[in-house]
Amino acid sequence: MSERPGALLDISGLNTNYGKISILRDVSLSVNAGEVVALLGLNGAGKTTTMRSILGLTPPRSGSIRFEGASIEGWPAYKVARLGVGYVPEGRRMFKDLTTLENLQLAETGRSGDWTIARVLEHLPKLAELRGRKAGRLSGGEQEMLAIGRALVSNPRLLLVDEPSQGLAPLVVEEVYRILGELKGRGVAILLVEQNALLALKIADRAYVLDSGKIVYAGSAAELRADRERVRTLMGLSDVVA
Ligand code: ATP
Repeated sequence: MSERPGALLDISGLNTNYGKISILRDVSLSVNAGEVVALLGLNGAGKTTTMRSILGLTPPRSGSIRFEGASIEGWPAYKVARLGVGYVPEGRRMFKDLTTLENLQLAETGRSGDWTIARVLEHLPKLAELRGRKAGRLSGGEQEMLAIGRALVSNPRLLLVDEPSQGLAPLVVEEVYRILGELKGRGVAILLVEQNALLALKIADRAYVLDSGKIVYAGSAAELRADRERVRTLMGLSDVVA
C-alpha cells in the first residue's frame, strides 16, 4: 500500500460494501494541506460512499485511510471529526427546529481554533442576519451556508463537501463557490463532491473521477477542465453544464 508523505488525507486500496454489495473497489486518493480536490462521477458512482467511509459512517471492508499520518479506518465518526475532518453533507441536514445560531452552537463542541462562531458570522454575514431564524425556514442556499458555517466552527483541517450546488439557483451556487474559494485561500483543504464537473473543476487543484466504485481518472483539474471531450466521456453529456 502506497503512503504519500505529507498528504493530509491518504486513502489507499479502499473497499467498501453495503451489505454484500461491493460499492468502492480499490479506491486510492489523497488530499494535501490547503488543496481543493474534486471527486466527480455520475449518480451512484460511489462519491458519497467515499465520504462516509472516511468519516466512519460506513466503515470500509478493507484498505487504509490515513489523516495527518494517523490510521483512521473504522474509527467512529465523532473521533474522526475531533481529529479535524469537517462534513458538509448532501441535503445539508440541519436541526430544522433550531435557529441558525443554535445550529452553530451545537457544532461548537469540537476542536478549538480560529473559527469561532463570531468569526463564522463575520465571514458569512448572511448567517449573522439570519441568526434567530429557524433552520427549517432558511432557503436552500442559506442552509448550505449554515452547513458550511457549522462545519467551520469545529475548525477542520479538511472539509468534506458533498454536492453543495444541489438544488440551488445559479447565483446562489456562485455565492457558495465564492465562499469555498475563500476558504481555500485561508488554507482549508477541501474534498469536493459535485455532479456538475466543470463547476468543481474551476476551484479544484486536482480531480478524481469515480465510475462504478473505481477511480478512472486521477490528475490535474485544469487539464481535465480543458478537455471537455474527456469530461463528456467520463461524466456523461448531461453533466457538462458550467
Ligand atoms: P449521488 O450523486 O447519487 O449521491 P454517489 O456517487 O454519491 O451518487 P453513492 O451515494 O455513494 O453514490 O452510492 C453508490 C452506490 O451505493 C449506489 O448504487 C447506491 O444505490 C448504493 N447505496 C448507497 N447507499 C446505500 C445503502 N445505504 N444501502 C445500499 N446501497 C446503497
